[in-house]
This record gives sequence, C-alpha cells and structure tokens, in this order.
Amino acid sequence: MIKRDVTYSELNKYCWTEDNRLQVVQPYEGQINPGEPSFYYHSDHLGSASFLTDRDGYETQQLVYLPFGEDWVDMKYNTSQYDTPYKFNGKEKDEETGYNYYGARYYYDWASIWLSVDPLSDKYPHLTSYNYCANNPVMLIDPDGREIGDPLKNMKVRRLSLSHTFGLVRRYSDGSPKNHQGVDYHASPGTDVYAAFTGLVKQVNNEDKGDYGKFIVIQHYNSEGKPKVDDNGNYEFSFYAHLSKINVKEGENVTENETIIGETGNTGNAKNLKGEDQHLHFEIREKETLGRGLKGRKDPNAYVDTKFEIDKDNNKKVNMLKLEE
Ligand SMILES: [Zn+2]
Repeated sequence: MIKRDVTYSELNKYCWTEDNRLQVVQPYEGQINPGEPSFYYHSDHLGSASFLTDRDGYETQQLVYLPFGEDWVDMKYNTSQYDTPYKFNGKEKDEETGYNYYGARYYYDWASIWLSVDPLSDKYPHLTSYNYCANNPVMLIDPDGREIGDPLKNMKVRRLSLSHTFGLVRRYSDGSPKNHQGVDYHASPGTDVYAAFTGLVKQVNNEDKGDYGKFIVIQHYNSEGKPKVDDNGNYEFSFYAHLSKINVKEGENVTENETIIGETGNTGNAKNLKGEDQHLHFEIREKETLGRGLKGRKDPNAYVDTKFEIDKDNNKKVNMLKLEE
C-alpha cells in the first residue's frame, strides 16, 4: 500500500507492509520516477528503524537505540539527504522537541516516560502513571500510546499452542500451510467476556450459525471519542466469536476492561470442542466484516494487555506474559 503524507513540507511516499514502513520515495522538483531517490527501512523486532539503505543496497543511515528508545547512534553515510523522522518503534520523533508521537500520547525517550498520565493508571498502582510499557521496553511495544485491555480475566492461549495463535500457524491434512485469523483464548463456556477496547458495538449476531456462531464486533474509539484511525487510515475493530450469551446491542457504547459484553461458549464450528479446547476466538480487524484469510486482520497479540511469547525451549508452544506482574 502506498500512503502519501506531508513531512517537513516535502511530499514523501511511503510503502508499507502491515504496520511496517518499508520504503520512502523522496521526489524532488523536476525529477520523476525512476530517478527519485528512495530509501529502504530495515526494522528490528520492535519496529524500530535500524538501517536505511538506498536503491542500490548501500547503507545510508544507521540508528541504534538505548533500551528505552533514546538515540545512541545516528550515523549517515554516502551523503544521504534523507534523515528519517521515524525512529524508535517506527514512531515519528519530533525534530524540535525530541518527543515521540504515539497517537494518544507523546513519549519522551530521554527520560523514559510518557508526557501525560496513563488514563488507566489505577490498574497499575505499583508503577508510576507515566511508565512506558511496564518498564519492559525490550520485549513490549505500545502501539498507540493508550493502555489496552483483555477480553478475558484469565488470558491463556488454547493449549498454549502456537497453532492457536494468529497467522499461517496451522496445516491442512496434505501438509500445506493454513491460516488462523485470530487468537483462541481458552475459556470454559459461561466465562465473562469483557470489551478489550473502548468503543461502539457495530454488529451482534445472536444466532448460532456459520463458523463463528454468536459473535460481537466492536469498533474502537480514541480518547477524544472518535473512531480510531491508524497510520494507514484504517479503522480498528475487535471481534469476539463462539459466544453463548450476548449482553450488548448494536449502537451501544462499551468501555475497555469494564463492560461485560457476553459469555464464552461453543457456538459455530466450536460446537463439539471439549475441555482445554473450549475457547473465545478473538480478532483485530480493519473492517467490520471480512472474507476469509489474513488480509485486513492483525495479530491480536500486539493489541491486548496479556501477551504471549514463543517458548524458547519448544517453539510450538507459547508462554503467557502478564504486564501487571
Ligand atoms: Zn479461532
């Protein structure tokens, strides 16, 4: 996807894959493609730009960060004219103030704190209300500067198995890869499901039909009470499926970690599942309704409070990682 936006009064074109900025094309006057200088981003596991290279593969900029995102090394090579403003976590760093823009809040990497209070700081009484990612910046990122919730009080990936996480994690019987469009969190039927995000109920299906059975779609709203829009101009929705009971109606407002929107169950294609396999199927989407496949869907692990990490000793398993601890 190509996005056009204006930075430093120049028109730059960015090329994206999912949330990662891959390439910038910097047009200058009197010059058209293919002569426009373009630079490629090489990001680390936190989405932070580490290297930029030009179209011939030569390094033009190297960036190294201290754990909380402070600049450590910022070197330019080969007389590059392009100095990327997108640095730690791929977020824009304001040239004048040195603050990092995360959407809802500004982060000040030099002091390792947010510049405003976390609206849900009462959830973390043992941490300062300005803390960044529970002081674990090497493992965690904060996608939009807002604290986020969990759909269940006890979050556990079904059977702690990587095949119940998001992506091409499953196999057809012939061995070819098969995707899973969300994450399955284990829950016995009748477990309370919370709104993981503040927003508006967009869709409710109260009939036990189709693969998903009874489900709810919630559109996420930002702290100003407007529909949330990401860097690519997409809206954001969460999707809760295989429910047994639904407490909300379309058009109702819900609050993250507060509104109990329904109860987990065995509806849809989860009908015959027993014991450890019973689950809530949870998705993050760019659209209210989507077809099959991963397109328009995002890895829920990046959006919830209680995350998983891949087990180092057994890469088919996951470990749950709770922020509050
Ligand atoms: Zn599922």
